[in-house]
Amino acid sequence: MIIGILKEPNDKRVSLVPSTLKKFKVEGVEFRIQKGAGTQASYVDTKYEKYGKVTDRSEILKSADILVSINPLPVEELPLIKKGALLVAVFSPFQNQELIARIEELGLKAASLDMIPRTTIAQTMDILSSMASIAGYRAVLLAATELPGFFPMMITAAGSIKPCKVLVLGAGVAGLQAIATARRLGAIVEASDVRAAAKEEVESLGAKFVEVPGAIDKRDAGGYAVEQTAEFMVRQQEEVQKRAASSDVVITTAQILGKKAPVLLTAETVSKMKPGSIVIDLAASSGGNCELSQADTTVIHNGVKIIGNSNLPSEMPRDASFFFSNNAANYLKLIIKDGALNLDRNNEIIDKTLLTKDQT
Ligand code: NAD
Repeated sequence: MIIGILKEPNDKRVSLVPSTLKKFKVEGVEFRIQKGAGTQASYVDTKYEKYGKVTDRSEILKSADILVSINPLPVEELPLIKKGALLVAVFSPFQNQELIARIEELGLKAASLDMIPRTTIAQTMDILSSMASIAGYRAVLLAATELPGFFPMMITAAGSIKPCKVLVLGAGVAGLQAIATARRLGAIVEASDVRAAAKEEVESLGAKFVEVPGAIDKRDAGGYAVEQTAEFMVRQQEEVQKRAASSDVVITTAQILGKKAPVLLTAETVSKMKPGSIVIDLAASSGGNCELSQADTTVIHNGVKIIGNSNLPSEMPRDASFFFSNNAANYLKLIIKDGALNLDRNNEIIDKTLLTKDQT
């Protein structure tokens, strides 16, 4: 069985790193790596050569039984792939149904790593958590460099500076990492979430929890938040407006599985923020938590910088690739048995990740 590793277009990360290949001792598996696949993430070809063949993209496309990538392959390349091959990637299937249909039409298979259930048993494969954690950390560093001032309190002979105020909306994996990072830099942090369980986690990191009464919190939604009522959203936007007006940085991370991201920060709220403030919207590619966000673009409104960047892990490519690689390898070990694909639909993780039909 051949596993192919390709260079990611428009992303500095690579799906599998040399240290993972070294440890990946599965009988009958060999790796083929595209030349330069890991260069931007600091994993050079000579490191890969010990564990597989470093070769051209076209050779990998036509020979690999499994192609592992972070982003889905460009649709024009699909006809060049070996029939029956399995594509493992982050497909964001709710937004990419046409691509999945095309994969199926060409007799290929697709498994989406972002559909891995958020259960204890699947934790070692959970790319959403590992990438969200990096995004939360990186969002704070980005805010700190974009802010025209300090994060920590400064008492100097040249004058005193108050600590920066950070508001984090959505206290899941990314939000909690953002809170912890902002606290380490000396900021005063407030955070809000619709899941009641988030309160204790936020407070344990030394931040204040902003509670908006009346949230729907379904415990059977796999840990994910659910869509809120229109009345709740208005109340929440009002509460956010009060807090955002006195904040220097707002980091938004709120997502609802399979749906457009909820709007928490309206244009009116941004108008009330101080000039020089920074909004980092990690949900920009799924509609944005800020009404003014644009995916992968920076918008300036009344002196407030709104940075819509949904791919911050690519800005920390060495460690993001290392985490992704470990997660992906654990998934590969689950679907390979005796050197062949073993797509057992009775396994919950496999069943949830497979996007195309008739794959066993
Ligand atoms: P996510 O990326 O889906 O959403 C980010 C956060 O936004 C969540 O905390 C969500 O509650 C919040 N949110 C949604 N709508 C909101 C609104 N209107 N206002 C404020 N906040 C809102 O979430 P995630 O970080 O992927 O985590 C989802 C859940 O999965 C969490 O409960 C987390 O603890 C759990 N989890 C479990 C495991 C595991 O057991 N293996 C691993 C990772 C995460």
